[in-house]
Amino acid sequence: QAIVEEEDAPEDLLPRAQIVTVMGHVDHGKTSLLDYIRKANVIAGEAGGITQHIGAYNVKLEDGRRITFLDTPGHEAFTAMRARGAKVTDIAIIIVAADDNVMPQTKEAINHAMAAGVPIVFAINKVDKPTANPDKIKEELAAMNYLVEEWGGKYQSQDISAKKGIGVEDLLEKVLLEAEMLDLKANPNRNASGSIIESSLDKGRGYVATVLVSNGTLKVGDIVLAGTSYGRVKAMFNERNQRIKEAGPSEPALILGLNGAPAAGDTFHVVETDQEAREITNKREQLAREQGLRTQKILTLDELGRRIALGNFQELNIIVKGDVDGSVEALSDSLIKLSTEQIQVNVIHKGVGAISESDVSLAAASDAIIVGFQVRPSGAAGKMADQEGVDIRKYSVIYDAIEEVKAAMEGMLAPELKEQITATIEIREVFNITKVGLVAGAMVKTGKVKRSDKARLIRDGIVIFTGNINALKRFKDDVKEVGTNFECGISLVNCNDMKVGDMIETFEEIEVKQTL
Ligand code: GDP
Repeated sequence: QAIVEEEDAPEDLLPRAQIVTVMGHVDHGKTSLLDYIRKANVIAGEAGGITQHIGAYNVKLEDGRRITFLDTPGHEAFTAMRARGAKVTDIAIIIVAADDNVMPQTKEAINHAMAAGVPIVFAINKVDKPTANPDKIKEELAAMNYLVEEWGGKYQSQDISAKKGIGVEDLLEKVLLEAEMLDLKANPNRNASGSIIESSLDKGRGYVATVLVSNGTLKVGDIVLAGTSYGRVKAMFNERNQRIKEAGPSEPALILGLNGAPAAGDTFHVVETDQEAREITNKREQLAREQGLRTQKILTLDELGRRIALGNFQELNIIVKGDVDGSVEALSDSLIKLSTEQIQVNVIHKGVGAISESDVSLAAASDAIIVGFQVRPSGAAGKMADQEGVDIRKYSVIYDAIEEVKAAMEGMLAPELKEQITATIEIREVFNITKVGLVAGAMVKTGKVKRSDKARLIRDGIVIFTGNINALKRFKDDVKEVGTNFECGISLVNCNDMKVGDMIETFEEIEVKQTL
């Protein structure tokens, strides 16, 4: 049950502060930068330090201009919020330590920002260190096609020391410049709407939520509705723990009075009466029950043909994960080359390793499918993908992946042969038996394994062997099949690397009819 907002007339719109998120690899200085900005003298003439952690704060620069920082560093939070429909961030600062390298999480952060269409400003940090080499970082960025301005590219970048405060003022100047080009505006003279940043249950104060106003002005006494929670705002506080009566566009506020804890990223609206709030939340609860957890249909490969046929489908977003860099690059390149005049194929993120929760949330937020080459989702990521309806396609042959995506783009669905997973088996012991080779003592965790199945050996989410089952035993006897929660002995043809903790995934190849 979405609330329809009236559009503002252009003459009612006034400039608003930009909202900035800092992202980057762990230990590259996100927290230090935010801390410095919070404490430092860049914030001229503000009474009372920012003592409260409320998830966001608004700082004033010497010339009076303001910037709002989201204090939820990390792209996981950023994308989780986006997956819920909140487009909170105007600009992303990507921080990279100059004594290190562009790291996997740096790449992830860049890809998450790009997927959201948020402009990037690079902060090359720790330049106070003798081992710092900012040029090397810029070179690595250039190699990824992110050429910084001083090298003739279009990305602004600033060398800084978050610890000593060197260059931070210049960084903020560049961030402001980026914002000027966005021409951010809002109408302060209307009922407020915006996003939930955090919420919790406080023993003394009841439900507490931090909100960031995106349009209008939120006032004490307003009836706020977010997700399936609502209530009259009893009191509001700013990040300096001062009581406030109202919060305008781009301003964060901590509010008391809701009857529940909405999720981070939920949008909030102000409604006129309690009655109206109750009706909308009732409808939303009913809708949520009917649809399960899913609120929006995310793209699956099977659905692609239908969407293309309906027209106006122009972009296919794909996340590629694989076991080695070479395959990831090769597969990504081939997928991008499938682009046609009608459909642009974008690889919005690629990387080596198991499919993670971060990948799934990026897919959910960007309407993307995940292509895994010789890798599997982690347990939590698999569950999350089921919940969110994210399509994870697993392949062991690059050609198959390309053919299947191509077929889906041409509207020709369902390959003839499809793998059906029959069981997952956990290896608990490994015996090396002369003349026979490695035999695993194992437990069937899900499904039922048949002697005739094929099998894959998976270690830390990466497929390291694929082949046939050599022997399947219960105690000393050869058996045809073993069901869930039974122990078994299993060996694979020509597999001479098995370890305790590895998983075996068994599968059969079945014929699938064309489904559409
Ligand atoms: P985060 O994980 O990205 O939030 O990184 P932190 O802000 O926690 O910083 C990680 C470590 O790097 C800490 O020990 C900081 O003191 C240090 N650090 C951060 N910025 C700088 C800097 O500009 N110069 C130096 N020398 N150390 C820094």
